[in-house]
Amino acid sequence: MLPITKDYIPVNKYSRAGLKLKAKRGIVMHYTASPGASAKNISTYFASLAQQDGKGRYASAHYSVDRNSIYNSLPDDELAYHCGSETYTKEAVARLGTYPNNSTVGIEMCIEKDGSIHEETFNNVVDLAVYLIRERGFPNVFFTHKGVVGWKECPLPWIISPGEYERFKQAVNAKLNPLQEEVVTEDEDDMNKVLDYAQWTWNELDKYIGDAYNDKIIDEWAWVEKVRKKKLTYGELLMLKVLIDERRRKKG
Ligand SMILES: [Zn+2]
Repeated sequence: MLPITKDYIPVNKYSRAGLKLKAKRGIVMHYTASPGASAKNISTYFASLAQQDGKGRYASAHYSVDRNSIYNSLPDDELAYHCGSETYTKEAVARLGTYPNNSTVGIEMCIEKDGSIHEETFNNVVDLAVYLIRERGFPNVFFTHKGVVGWKECPLPWIISPGEYERFKQAVNAKLNPLQEEVVTEDEDDMNKVLDYAQWTWNELDKYIGDAYNDKIIDEWAWVEKVRKKKLTYGELLMLKVLIDERRRKKG
C-alpha cells in the first residue's frame, strides 16, 4: 500500500470541526467531480474552506486518493463533512444513524481528465479500504454517497457502471479473505471442469476405469462411457480415483 500523506487541515468551522466520531459504522465512497485534480489538490481545497468569508460552504473528507498518492486531511476518528444532507435513505439511517457524518469515514476518489477512475486509483482505494477495516476499526460496510443521501450522483463513474462498485467490494473482500477466495475458485471452477486431456491420457484413463469395471471394483458402466465420451470432470476423476484405489487396496 502507498504511504498515507498526513496533510491535516486546521480545525475550523467549515471543514474540520474537531469533533470525534460517535461510532465507526461504515465507509462512504465519493469522487471529486474535478477532472485531473490530484489528492493533494483536494486536501488543499478542504483546508482553504477555513478562509472563506461567510459563503457557508461546509465540505471535507478524511482521505483523497489518486493514481500515486493517498492524502489524509483529518484524523479518521473525527467528523468530516462529506455526506451531510437534509434527507437520507432508509438504509443509511438504519445502518449509519440519523446523521451519517457522525459514524463514517469518507474517501474521495480522484478522476482522470476524461472523468474516469484510473485502475491505479481503484487499486489504491482498495488498499486504503482494507487498511481502514483491518487497522482502523471500521466495519466492512460500504455506502456510496448516493446510497447515503439518495439524490447526489456520487461517485458518478460507479453510478454509471454499478459493476465497478461491485468489483471494488469484491476486491476488498478478496484481500481481507485471500484463502477463502482461493478455495472457492478451486472448488467451483476447476472441479466442475471437464478434463482437457490428450488422446493417450484418455486411453490410459479408459483402461484404468475399464479395468476397475471388469474387476467389479466399480459397477456402473456409466463411468466408462463418460471417459469414452471425454465428459469426465476433474472432480469426478478425483472421486473415482479415491474410490478405486481404496477398494483395490482392500481387495488385495
Ligand atoms: Zn460525494
